[in-house]
Amino acid sequence: MIRSFENADLRERNSFRAAQRAARLAEYDSAAELPEVFERYGMPQWTVLSGGNNILFTRDFDGLLLTPCGKTITVAAENDEMAIVRVDAGVEWDDFVRWATDRGLWGIENLSLIPGKVGAAPVQNIGAYGVEVKDSVVDVEMFVPDACKYAVLAAEHCAFGYRESVFKHTLRNKVVITTVEFRLYKSPRPILAYGNLAREVEARGGATLANIREAVCDIRRAKLPDPAVTGNAGSFFKNPIVDTAVAERLRERYPEMPLYAVPEEGKVKLAAGWLIDKAGLKGFREGNVGVHDTQALVLVNLGGATGGEIAAFADKIRQRVEDEFGIGIDTEVNIL
Ligand SMILES: Cc1cc2nc3c(=O)[nH]c(=O)nc-3n(C[C@H](O)[C@H](O)[C@H](O)COP(=O)(O)OP(=O)(O)OC[C@H]3O[C@@H](n4cnc5c(N)ncnc54)[C@H](O)[C@@H]3O)c2cc1C
Repeated sequence: MIRSFENADLRERNSFRAAQRAARLAEYDSAAELPEVFERYGMPQWTVLSGGNNILFTRDFDGLLLTPCGKTITVAAENDEMAIVRVDAGVEWDDFVRWATDRGLWGIENLSLIPGKVGAAPVQNIGAYGVEVKDSVVDVEMFVPDACKYAVLAAEHCAFGYRESVFKHTLRNKVVITTVEFRLYKSPRPILAYGNLAREVEARGGATLANIREAVCDIRRAKLPDPAVTGNAGSFFKNPIVDTAVAERLRERYPEMPLYAVPEEGKVKLAAGWLIDKAGLKGFREGNVGVHDTQALVLVNLGGATGGEIAAFADKIRQRVEDEFGIGIDTEVNIL
């Protein structure tokens, strides 16, 4: 079924609660309906608005927004060790994680409670608590509107990186992801090295799927603002990756600065939240926009801020960090 809305109000469709509108928004239940959606409503400008948890609208969108709503999860193949699971783009990511953990399938439990839908997960290679979705993705199925064809891209061709993929670059607004295929494991493979996860899991009785999921959910709820209460899009900025020499120079000036080796690139990742905090900006507010007071990587809409105001505020934060440390920080959020 296709549901189409003209001059659509986006306020309830983006986690920043930016009050913009779209010329047309089409929700569809099945990927098979995409040719019809484009035939009926195709416009020169289109993009996918999935759950809206990683998008900041700074103006009205003069084109077509596509929202996948299919909800099917199917086990495509399995053996004693693993299951290959096909999931519609429109399934809520955390519903899929719950589905997997309830069935004893390992691999994505650390990604519990990340807001959004499954089709968006490969776009920025969602990650949390030492796990990235790329490690479970087998392939990504998509519709290519220009050719009116469906295609499949194996994970090794998705150019996955830290909050990166081909879908943010060469395939941006060229394909609509329709289904993602995952490989999940039947025997335990807990990954608990990140932060205080091991301690929290131990406190719940050990490394079962249920305990890991519960610990991750509880940590996230305690740390991150709930978009239903305070508009935000999670981490607004990406952690910058710099040359070792740059990191060493900073370490001399700030011995307490956290640094994370990125051996595959021979570089070092800095914590953008630490840089923002150290620049004295944690809790900083201007008008209706602020830096969250416990998690400096998160910008919040304190009520009624426009997307433009949030983007301008983000520019100021970026500039202050650059002035203080000489380090540029890129946005993780997609700005439209
Ligand atoms: C409170 C909070 C916490 C968060 N924590 C994390 C975290 O721990 N780790 C993390 O990685 N992210 C996190 N995020 C960011 C966000 O949850 C993820 O980026 C998520 O994948 C966004 O899903 P969505 O369905 O809302 O996508 P949207 O915001 O709707 O879309 C994001 C981008 O992907 C594109 N896109 C979406 N679906 C498709 C599709 N089917 N085909 C083609 N392109 C598509 C969109 O056009 C857009 O460019 C957090 C966000 C919030 C609000």
